[in-house]
Amino acid sequence: MSFGGRLTLLKSVLSSLRLYYFSLYSVPPSVLKLLESVRRIFFWGGDLSGTKISWVKWENILLPYESGGLNVGSLKNKNLALLGKWWWRFKTDTTSLWTKLIRSIYGIDSGLRSVDGLAHLPILGTWKDIWCDTSSFKDLFPRLFRLDRNIEVLGNSIVLPKKTLHNNLIPKKVEILVWKTRKKRLRVELDKRGVDLYSTRCPVCDEDLESVEHLFVSCKFSKDVWSRIFKWWNFNLPQNLVFSDLFLGKSTSTMSTLGTKIWQSVEWICAYYIWKNRNMMVFQNKGWIPPVVISEIQVKSFEWVSNRIKDKTIDWHVWLTNPSLICT
Ligand SMILES: [Zn+2]
Repeated sequence: MSFGGRLTLLKSVLSSLRLYYFSLYSVPPSVLKLLESVRRIFFWGGDLSGTKISWVKWENILLPYESGGLNVGSLKNKNLALLGKWWWRFKTDTTSLWTKLIRSIYGIDSGLRSVDGLAHLPILGTWKDIWCDTSSFKDLFPRLFRLDRNIEVLGNSIVLPKKTLHNNLIPKKVEILVWKTRKKRLRVELDKRGVDLYSTRCPVCDEDLESVEHLFVSCKFSKDVWSRIFKWWNFNLPQNLVFSDLFLGKSTSTMSTLGTKIWQSVEWICAYYIWKNRNMMVFQNKGWIPPVVISEIQVKSFEWVSNRIKDKTIDWHVWLTNPSLICT
């Protein structure tokens, strides 16, 4: 199963199985740890017989897209949020029978206050109300408060996490490859992580050490592929193709938002095929020649993009001969 399939199952099945219990009980830390490790092993393709290398810290995968993660969400937070919902209902819905019953048995704070994590939740606002010590958090931690409300006030003094790029015109497995590439968490970086490799030279050209930059940008095979892609789209190939600019979908000013997204899809699919070719060289000792890769990219990108696009039909002949026309 591809990374995309596993990510979808992870979010839709493994994260929801215990929703009922999560909304009623405070889950013990040991259980949360076990459940998170099951999700982590599944995501990286391991099973009961063994685990596989975790290329990115699990905590970072749980983060939202804006913070560079894959928007999976932590089970602990989900548990707290679901329990918090009861707390919210208990405080706001004072007329319902269940609220009256709990109040009569446990008092105004009810038993919910004793739940770990909820015990310190403020009734009103986290920052402005005094709910811990004798001052509000806003006064105790003014810098953090400014950061929370308006991140720009700190100017360039902080480094924001690299946002996860998103493109719904292509399959998840391609998106995840780009995500891993931008984080430099591919097999090519293994030697830098202390894993002994048979060879650290580029398996495609054998002319340089293998790295993410080399594989996707400066390898002669990749350069050839990129120049053909740019030519197909009638774009000028930048003098120096910069790794950090790839995948951003930068394009001409005449392109529409959708057009930029379509061009970005092609860039990502191109990277996917460069990676596929590299793996063929490593595991089967054979690769494609650039014209064949271009044909594969043209066919696959047409299939993926045209099937996912709404309210627009893409003509195969135009796609092959002048795709920029579709994107204005
Ligand atoms: Zn190379």
